[in-house]
Amino acid sequence: MTHLSPEQLAQAAIRTLEKTSETLTPKERMAIPAQEMPTQDPAERRSNMNEVALGYSPEQARAEALRCLQCKTAPCIAGCPVGIDIPGFIQAIADGDNKKAIDIIKIDSLLPAVCGRVCPQETQCQAPCTVGKVLKSVDKAVNIGRLERYVADWERENRLIEIPAIKPDTGKKVGIIGTGPAGLTVAADIRREGHDVTLFEAFHKPGGVMVYGIPEFRLPKAIVQQEIDALTAMGCELKTNFVIGRTRKIQDLLDEDGFDALFIGTGAGLPRFMNIEGENLVGVYSANEYLTRSNLMRAYDKQRADTPIFDSEKVAVLGGGNVAMDAARTAVRLGAKEVHLIYRRTEVEMPARVEEVHHAKEEGVIFHMLENPKRILSDEKGWVNGIECLRYELGEPDDSGRRRPIAIEGSEFEIDLDTVIVAIGNDSNPLIRQTTPGLETNKWGNIVADENGKSSIDRIYAGGDIVLGAATVILAMGEGRKAAAAMNEMLANI
Ligand SMILES: Cc1cc2nc3c(=O)[nH]c(=O)nc-3n(C[C@H](O)[C@H](O)[C@H](O)COP(=O)(O)OP(=O)(O)OC[C@H]3O[C@@H](n4cnc5c(N)ncnc54)[C@H](O)[C@@H]3O)c2cc1C
Ligand code: SF4
Repeated sequence: MTHLSPEQLAQAAIRTLEKTSETLTPKERMAIPAQEMPTQDPAERRSNMNEVALGYSPEQARAEALRCLQCKTAPCIAGCPVGIDIPGFIQAIADGDNKKAIDIIKIDSLLPAVCGRVCPQETQCQAPCTVGKVLKSVDKAVNIGRLERYVADWERENRLIEIPAIKPDTGKKVGIIGTGPAGLTVAADIRREGHDVTLFEAFHKPGGVMVYGIPEFRLPKAIVQQEIDALTAMGCELKTNFVIGRTRKIQDLLDEDGFDALFIGTGAGLPRFMNIEGENLVGVYSANEYLTRSNLMRAYDKQRADTPIFDSEKVAVLGGGNVAMDAARTAVRLGAKEVHLIYRRTEVEMPARVEEVHHAKEEGVIFHMLENPKRILSDEKGWVNGIECLRYELGEPDDSGRRRPIAIEGSEFEIDLDTVIVAIGNDSNPLIRQTTPGLETNKWGNIVADENGKSSIDRIYAGGDIVLGAATVILAMGEGRKAAAAMNEMLANI
């Protein structure tokens, strides 16, 4: 496939715009080609951590916005977990009013630069888009996420982000545990009402998965940092290296430290393993450890970071979600000569974002579909030197609606490797559950919360992955907004 440069794509968009009339019919709108996202050349990006997707030019953004039919029923809005007025902001871009566009988005989403980059749009807002339906491919739907990113970047690059107004001090004190998208959203919404806000974070850097999990080449850390800086500018206090359940317990915060309410947004950071032979060998990582070492501890920065990571040559990543793609693409950038992605279903069932799968393939990750490891092999010193896999076929759909993978007896084969990264999912961290009597959790260890995010204990709310199980940034943010609204109401009445 030819790789078009950002300049070539911008020129193509200019030519498209020159041909469009002032008043476009729906047919003419649908004839405008979907605008491709400019990216770094795959050969170059394999050895750098810089962002892969470079963002639309103003001409591309306008051409893409003109594809929107402004449907009266707006099925895209129903597909958005936080209900953004999508046709409204797209029309503003088409009219050249980027400020209006970002203001519309910000009514419902506090993290547009993040969501525009990492939301699974093809299964959310873009899935029901009329343009995609008529053109019979979700790939041809209006690129809503890319347009969201475009205006969020426009606002940031033009230094137009404003610190929200804060209401007069209420004297009420709120503690927020965890600084992922859920915690950051709650902090902003609660601080605006004039309450005192303290954020507690176990790591030395705030941002949750957006910082320790999702790599720089997908989500630049400076974007997340900007959100944190906005919170501190609003007067929120941030306490890092502070593990609730160890440094202080939940009950201490309420009974001794004077907090009137707490929000728990501690995410799902406990990696699952496959429970197969060899998972304790040297050279087996959870994706969480691998990505945290690279992203948060900067192991990729070999000259300067003092947290090196093993120089792998041949890596297998087990799994098919975003975490697996991030781990595989990080291994490519850390210099591995071969990276094998092993998944027991087919690409159709893969939960990873389509764009990440496409980028991983462009970067040379070798996809093994309908295969699954049986055991990890080692040399006499206990170092990984291979993996034994089985081939699979698909049977009837299981509870998840996806066709069940069935192992083919006698189909064993081996791959030579020195590193295995397990990326098959995460559970919630058990620490707060274990140290907070009376806090109800379900059989997966997630905190049980009502529709307003209230937990089984008065004045304690929860949201994001710690309630939903491993989910998405936009859902964590949406949960945070609901919980913050309920907390603000509760605080106004005590
Ligand atoms: C590698 C990876 C890639 C992903 N890619 C995508 C994607 O492309 N698109 C998407 O929408 N979603 C993606 N996700 C999922 C998404 O990032 C999460 O759903 C989202 O971050 C959850 O937000 P949260 O606020 O609930 O928790 P988190 O982001 O997990 O943040 C929780 C925070 O709480 C802190 N914490 C935990 N316990 C304590 C404690 N006891 N005391 C103090 N602090 C504590 C943690 O250190 C962490 O910083 C990905 C996840 C991973 C792991
Ligand atoms: S469904 Fe698609 S075409 Fe219709 S308003 Fe939404 S984005 Fe525009």
